[in-house]
Amino acid sequence: MKISEVPKGIKKIGGKELKISWSDGHESVYGFRSLRQSCQCAMCVDEWSGKQILERDTLPKDLEGVKVNVVGNYALGMLFSDGHSTGLFTFKHLRKICPCEACRNKPEENLEQKIYMEKGDLKTRVD
Ligand SMILES: [Zn+2]
Ligand SMILES: [Zn+2]
Repeated sequence: MKISEVPKGIKKIGGKELKISWSDGHESVYGFRSLRQSCQCAMCVDEWSGKQILERDTLPKDLEGVKVNVVGNYALGMLFSDGHSTGLFTFKHLRKICPCEACRNKPEENLEQKIYMEKGDLKTRVD
């Protein structure tokens, strides 16, 4: 695991935001609604095609995070206010989707492929 993908601190800020401080000094602040939108579980993403099934815009505008827990030492599990809790958010994935300006400006051309590969990772680790 890369140092940039190892969290040093994880803090839930009310129901709206999650803040992660990474071991390389970077900080990411995520909105729970956008985390919910990037959920990679089998209910949100088609297992075979890697395409998103979830209709992002149908999520409640005031969607919040209820609970965050660490799974193993590589991911976070989250319970959202819409009752969804099946997603596993790997630190690798979270670092990749950091919404800060510097990270957002990185080229995104391989994003879909990357997410697909990550799903593969996830499977081998979980099984
Ligand atoms: Zn999901
Ligand atoms: Zn960032």
